[in-house]
Amino acid sequence: MLRKKTKGQLIVLSGPSGVGKSTVISELLSQREGIHFSISFTTRQPRVGEADGVNYFFVTRETFEGMIANDELLEYAEYVNNYYGTSLKHIQEKLDAGIDVLLDIEVQGAAKVRAKCPDAVFIFIVPPSFEELSRRLHRRATDQEEVIQGRLRKAREEYREIPNYDYLVVNDKVSDAAAEIVAILTAENCRTKNRMNLVEGV
Ligand code: 5GP
Repeated sequence: MLRKKTKGQLIVLSGPSGVGKSTVISELLSQREGIHFSISFTTRQPRVGEADGVNYFFVTRETFEGMIANDELLEYAEYVNNYYGTSLKHIQEKLDAGIDVLLDIEVQGAAKVRAKCPDAVFIFIVPPSFEELSRRLHRRATDQEEVIQGRLRKAREEYREIPNYDYLVVNDKVSDAAAEIVAILTAENCRTKNRMNLVEGV
């Protein structure tokens, strides 16, 4: 008898702030069913249009530090003066149920996941150019200039981590970027090690 897929695939997506990851992720989730987007915990303030429990779980520093102390996080990082982290329990439940889980996390967090979960697939997403990234951050107009400059500096640092990722996607057109990620996930699904449940007699 053929066995059901037992474990979900962990998908890690990184890329500089302002690259349009959230838009690409929305498009991806609408194109491909069965992916659970992991909602992170953060100490940063919600931006206009963001809601608690939708984009992030917005918590105080004290709450976040409590989660660190209790070992509740798969990974966390401090990014532009705020904490961001992934709840281990939330994603473990989904993966154990055979559901694929998508993390939108920065490079330090991704490095921690790489050490703990070598079977995860790591995708880095870049804008067509730095000029375009700067334009997108200014267009968003929700952060102060100082914060925008901090994010651009951070982006240059993050680029050094690109060789540690399995795949690179350029977000020029959102639908194309999402389609490339769909293709990556399809290829990952077809890996022999992920398909042995489909083979009889082994
Ligand atoms: P933003 O403030 O623009 O929403 O996010 C800033 C950065 O934090 C982005 O690069 C985003 O991918 C990253 N981030 C969001 N959630 C997490 C998380 O749970 N862990 C880590 N390490 N980074 C995160």
